[in-house]
Amino acid sequence: MSTSTPTPTPTTPAGDCLFCKIRDGGIPATITYSDERVVAFKDIGPKAPFHQLVIPREHVGTLAETDAAHEALLGHLMVTAAHLARQAGYGDKGFRVVMNSGVGAGQTVFHIHLHVLAGRSFGWPPG
Ligand code: 5GP
Ligand code: ZN
Repeated sequence: MSTSTPTPTPTTPAGDCLFCKIRDGGIPATITYSDERVVAFKDIGPKAPFHQLVIPREHVGTLAETDAAHEALLGHLMVTAAHLARQAGYGDKGFRVVMNSGVGAGQTVFHIHLHVLAGRSFGWPPG
């Protein structure tokens, strides 16, 4: 296990955020679901046959920044992920839901998002 100093996680202002721009339609994406609190769209670089992202409309940089005030929103992200997976026929077959928090976990876009992945087998532990 590495003990090196972790790379600090950057703070992305909402005005400079890729996923805020997708939410607002300024950057095109294949939107698959939208409601008053969340938006879902296809990942541009799918890591599985089914790979969608679910984001809150509210700009929140990382899961590490959340607190009790975000509980309902985080729950809604998860329920939306399950809805999308079920709708695509993966409810019984199985699907994986992932949220990376911080550079050390592989987060590259600093607006929280759930990855919803399905359509292949998944190893454990994750890489
Ligand atoms: P992270 O590494 O932050 O957990 O995940 C970011 C995800 O956003 C990656 O899976 C990446 O493929 C996806 N992504 C990056 N840029 C874009 C984009 O412009 N459009 C879409 N639809 N997905 C993107
Ligand atoms: Zn944002």
